[in-house]
Amino acid sequence: MKVIVVGTGIAGASAAYQLEKAGVDVTMIDRVQEGKATSAGAGIVCPWISSVENPDWYRIAKRGAAFYPSLIESLQADGETETGYKKVGALSVSTSMDILDSIEQRVREKQKTAPELGDIRRLNKTETQNYFPMLADELEAVYVSGAARVDGRFLREALKNAAQKHGAQLIQGTAGLKVEKGQVTGVVVEGAFFEADAVLLTAGAWAPELLKDLGLELHIEPQRGQIAHIKLSNQDTSSWPVVLPQTSYYMLAFDDSRVVAGATRETGSGFDHRLTAGGVHEILQECLEIAPGLQEGTLQEIRIGFRPMGPDILPLIGSINKVKGLYIANGLGASGLTMGPYVGALVSKLIMGESLSIDLRPYDPMRAIITKPERVN
Ligand code: FAD
Repeated sequence: MKVIVVGTGIAGASAAYQLEKAGVDVTMIDRVQEGKATSAGAGIVCPWISSVENPDWYRIAKRGAAFYPSLIESLQADGETETGYKKVGALSVSTSMDILDSIEQRVREKQKTAPELGDIRRLNKTETQNYFPMLADELEAVYVSGAARVDGRFLREALKNAAQKHGAQLIQGTAGLKVEKGQVTGVVVEGAFFEADAVLLTAGAWAPELLKDLGLELHIEPQRGQIAHIKLSNQDTSSWPVVLPQTSYYMLAFDDSRVVAGATRETGSGFDHRLTAGGVHEILQECLEIAPGLQEGTLQEIRIGFRPMGPDILPLIGSINKVKGLYIANGLGASGLTMGPYVGALVSKLIMGESLSIDLRPYDPMRAIITKPERVN
C-alpha cells in the first residue's frame, strides 16, 4: 500500500512514522512555510488541570498525554534520542486558596482514571518558588508530577528521521491533490505526479486551500499565536516545571536556560505573519506579572505560529467520504502538541483498516466540510 502524507507537522510526522513502521510505503511532502504551528508551539503536555468540560476533548487529550512515553521509547529504539520531551511536572498557581482547593479537587478526581498524571501536592509560597524561582513570591500552587513539556521542532524531526530510517521518502514542495472519478489517485508537487492508494491531509491551517480545488469548503481557520523566548544567564532551567496561572497564559522552560512565555490567541488573524506591538505587550505584561524574576532575562526571540482551529474544540480525524482514499487529521487547535502524536497514530490505523480502541464519531471531519456537489468528480 502506498500512502502520501501532505504536511509534516506533529500530526503528519507521527502518522508517517507509524505507517512506515507498519510496512506501508510512505511519501511525506512538506514545504518551506512561515508560521508552522508545530515550530511555534509552547509544548505543554498537561490535559488534567484544564477546565475544559468537553468529555470528547478530554478523552483524546488524556490519551494523547498517556501515549508519549511509549512513543519516546519507540523513537529511542530507532536511534532518535533528541525528542525534546521531558516530564517536568506542572504548577497550577494562584494567590487564592479557594481556587487552588477547587483545582486540587478536580485533579484528584481525574487521577482516579488517569494515574499517569502522577503525584498531586499542595505547595506553599517558598516551595512554589523553589520549583520555579522567577515566580512572584505571593503565589502558591498545586503541583502535578506527570506533566511534561516537548519541543515540537525536535519531536517532529525525530519522527521524520525515524520514518525515513524505516524507508519513507521526503519531498519538499507544495502538494496539490489529484482526484479522478471520486477517488484520490495521488498528488502533484511542482508539476510532478506522485501516485498513491491513499492521501492523508495533515496540512494544518493551510488544508482548506487543498480542498478548495475539489469544491470542498473546509472550516479550518488560522489563529495566530505570538510566544516569547527569554534567555536567562547562570540558571539551570532544565527541570523547571510548567507554570499555569488562572488565565490563558503560561510559562515553561527548556534545557538551554530558556523560558518560553505565551501566548496570544488571535482569532481572525488570517495568515498575517507579523509580531504586533499589542501582542508582544500582552504576553510580556501577563507573564512578567506572574514571574517578575524574568525582567532581567534577554528577550531572545518571539515566535509566530498559526493554530489550525476547527468549528469546535474537537480535532478532525477520519476519511473525507466525498473522495475515496482521502483522509484528514486537523483542527488540533491549542492542544496539538498534546494530542498530535496520538491523533497521527489513530489516523494511520484507520488508513490501514485496523480496529481502533476509541470511537471516532465525535471527531468526524465531515462536520467541518461543506460540499459544492458539482465540483467533486
Ligand atoms: P502544522 O504544524 O502547522 O503543520 C502543517 C504542515 O503542513 C506545515 O509543515 C506546512 O508547511 C505543511 N503544508 C501545508 N500546506 C501544504 C502543501 N500544500 N504542501 C505541502 N505542505 C503543506 N499545543 C499543545 O498541546 N501544547 C502547547 O503548549 C501548545 N502551545 C502552542 C503555542 C502556540 C503559540 C501555538 C501557535 C500553538 C500551540 N499549540 C500547543 C498547538 C500546536 O502547536 C498545534 O495544534 C499543532 O502543532 C498543529 O500541528 P499540525 O501538524 O496540525 O500543523
